[in-house]
Amino acid sequence: MNATPQPADPGADALGTSAAQARSAVLEQLVRQDPGRFRVLTGDRPTGRLHLGHYFGTLHNRVRLQDLGVELFVVIADYQVLTDRDVADNLTEYVEELALDYLAVGVDPARSTVFTHSAVPALNQLMLPFLSLVSVAELNRNPTVKDEIAHSRQSAVSGLMFTYPVHQAADILFCKANLVPVGQDQLPHLEVTRSIARRFNDRYGHGAAVFPQPEALLSSAPLLLGTDGTKMSKSRGNAIALAADADETARLIKGARTDAQRHIGYDPATRPEVSSLVLLAALCLGRSPQEVAEQIGSAGAAALKKTVTDAVNEYLAPIRARRAEFVADRGYLRQVLREGNERARAVADATLAEVRAAMNSDF
Ligand code: ATP
Ligand code: MG
Repeated sequence: MNATPQPADPGADALGTSAAQARSAVLEQLVRQDPGRFRVLTGDRPTGRLHLGHYFGTLHNRVRLQDLGVELFVVIADYQVLTDRDVADNLTEYVEELALDYLAVGVDPARSTVFTHSAVPALNQLMLPFLSLVSVAELNRNPTVKDEIAHSRQSAVSGLMFTYPVHQAADILFCKANLVPVGQDQLPHLEVTRSIARRFNDRYGHGAAVFPQPEALLSSAPLLLGTDGTKMSKSRGNAIALAADADETARLIKGARTDAQRHIGYDPATRPEVSSLVLLAALCLGRSPQEVAEQIGSAGAAALKKTVTDAVNEYLAPIRARRAEFVADRGYLRQVLREGNERARAVADATLAEVRAAMNSDF
């Protein structure tokens, strides 16, 4: 992507976004030099269709890394649906929607592993030793867990929500991934994974590193905002889905919040809503947000929205066309998941065997 990084939002530096962005630039170079050194794990909760926040936050990076020759694991985090919901409504449909979105954006099941973590028992078993390596106080102060609790649909916080970052550590470490392309909200979770890996190695590694300490790879849009000016999110009704059609996209962008200033500028700190729309157009057009804002200038919000709508619809047209082809073949989708789960199980079994040996519990 050519767009310049979006300056951190007010709360972002508490999450270490600037440092992670600087490190991401270094990681990009290392990947280019030697893609075989890296293994990627990343994923999503099957809570709805993927949206532009996912795409520019992580999906685009996943496919780019895959195409550079990095080994890619993508987890459909079906257990984690239950962190903030009592029931997994429409789970089958959402899992299939996610798989469709992956195929549509270019995840290639011949080279990459797409799996559901509920189908990989050994991955989940890693949670037990991992839980012993974090304190309740650490889990308590995780800002992402706090934010997710604030948006939760449950009246009481479940144990699963509380241990979400530890489960995520199991997702990442079962395949010994060392690179995790994520959005900004995941940085605190990744810190938990890094601590768990470090502590496991210190406590049980006998001088060897059983687990790598994975690093986050941020894109130039680590926090894309939705049509209401807050984080674009499946659960907040503010998202533009990859699978939406051109008319739905136009309607959603038409209804997006802007501000009272006629002149269009790019200043995420003071004008988050307008800047987010500018950024969206810029990402789709492969231009810098400043350039896009300048070009619209005093033409105002209506012109901005038209530019964004055209740019998004044009950018997504081939992805939507590919998606339509895969929709017709549910059998193939099922096969992708079955094979991915099989591959993930083999990897998880090997890691668990190593963990049990390190912990002197291989009976
Ligand atoms: P939910 O509302 O159900 O939590 P979500 O839209 O937040 O859904 P997740 O499945 O929680 O999506 O996130 C999957 C991945 O996409 C994570 O790496 C996350 O950082 C990234 N991501 C999600 N939303 C955005 C966004 N608005 N901007 C950038 N990255 C995002
Ligand atoms: Mg989320």
